[in-house]
Amino acid sequence: MTSPGDASPSSNLNTTIASLATPEGVGGLAVIRISGPDAYLVAQNLCEKEKIKPRYALYTPFRSPVGLEIDSGVLTYFPAPHSYTGEDVVELSCHGGFVVSTELLEACYSFGCVVAQPGEFTRRAFLNGKMDLCQAEAVADVIMSESSAGKDANYKILSGKFSTLILRLKQSLFDLVSKLEGELDFTEDEITPIPTIKKRALVFDVLSQTKDVLSTYSTGKMLQRGALIAFVGKPNVGKSSLLNAILSEERTIVSETPGTTRDAVEVPFLINNFPVRLVDTAGIRRPDDAVEGLGMGFTHQYLEKADLVLNVIDLSLPKNTVEKEIKTFNCSKPVIHVLNKSDLLNNGTKKAWGSKSLGVATTSALQGDGVKNLIKFIYRNLVDRPSLSGGLVLTNSRHKLSLGSVASSLERALFIIDSNDSPEILSVELRDAVSHLDQILGLTSVDEILDNIFSKFCVGK
Ligand code: GDP
Repeated sequence: MTSPGDASPSSNLNTTIASLATPEGVGGLAVIRISGPDAYLVAQNLCEKEKIKPRYALYTPFRSPVGLEIDSGVLTYFPAPHSYTGEDVVELSCHGGFVVSTELLEACYSFGCVVAQPGEFTRRAFLNGKMDLCQAEAVADVIMSESSAGKDANYKILSGKFSTLILRLKQSLFDLVSKLEGELDFTEDEITPIPTIKKRALVFDVLSQTKDVLSTYSTGKMLQRGALIAFVGKPNVGKSSLLNAILSEERTIVSETPGTTRDAVEVPFLINNFPVRLVDTAGIRRPDDAVEGLGMGFTHQYLEKADLVLNVIDLSLPKNTVEKEIKTFNCSKPVIHVLNKSDLLNNGTKKAWGSKSLGVATTSALQGDGVKNLIKFIYRNLVDRPSLSGGLVLTNSRHKLSLGSVASSLERALFIIDSNDSPEILSVELRDAVSHLDQILGLTSVDEILDNIFSKFCVGK
């Protein structure tokens, strides 16, 4: 057994690890987690051993190695394999604060535990087959989520929906590889070759599903980190006024980051607890910008980065001019055309615009009309999309890279099929795609990759 307090080698499952599972500091409760072959022994040392029963919350005093009562709390014992890590696990709920948890942890180390590394409990869960690698990564992603929508996307991965899809794709490719390799071993008299059209359809189907998931990555990233919303439009259409009207409607600025104020460029803000940053591209033109083109350059940079663009148009202009501005606005990002200054129109004309297509909102930044609806519209556009309600959204860059490699292999496989090239070469490409799918699940992971993934976790998880 490692000496008390030593950090355990991260993949050594013979050690028993312990750490605080709750944040350090003052709070009602603190939870200490212990996992490994000696977890039960450690629990027996901490309290009256005959009272410990599997999956039973035991209220008990906790004692130090010299028999001093440190605290009283709840001890729960989860025997292997029915625990988070798949090993014997003991959880101690004690009083919160720094002193109690430190004394209790020191007692655990005296009884033979070693310090858990960041993410080591989840790493053990992965190594013991309790979850695959993308689920293990999703544990950290769920914890680190900054919005409910981001958490929901990560939770779908944690609950195994993404793994099920990856396994299904893998199985389809694997079946095809087995048949192709069967063809190589037998003559046409002994085995019926798969028709080219069937091979193509199968590879094409797996490629389409792969591309479908890949296409959700930018949404996944946006859900993870929040959205950038750029206000664009001609000078004096009311961009700054509208931005301020939105802010005063919700009054929930997230924080004042240095250099960003209500009047300046980027304003962090929450819409229904979803973090967004509002950017008034007019504010990007610095006063000393002698050349207008410089400002436009900044605007284009922001358009590149934006998740949603609000194209603000002065509604008091002639109707055909407004329509032209909507039609000629050319942008690859999702756009809401905001027709501002509705207070300058009579009611009949306002209605005509109000009944326009979904991409148009009518507001008066000056009087506040339509601003609440615009906020709802923005939220729906970013987070509440029907396509997000049930489907999987890719959030992890490692998964994206592996799926990108799967797609490249399958593109090459299609080319090989179309060129009537040899089944051997086709089989190599398909096996390559399978190995990239395996990487996502962690079936071919090397220690270095695992170290990199789990070092980003918090201690105690
Ligand atoms: P920006 O250059 O696009 O940022 O436009 P500003 O927000 O600075 O507004 C330009 C002018 O339009 C100011 O005089 C505003 O008071 C006025 N303005 C902005 N929004 C409205 C609106 O909804 N109705 C009316 N009548 N005037 C507005």
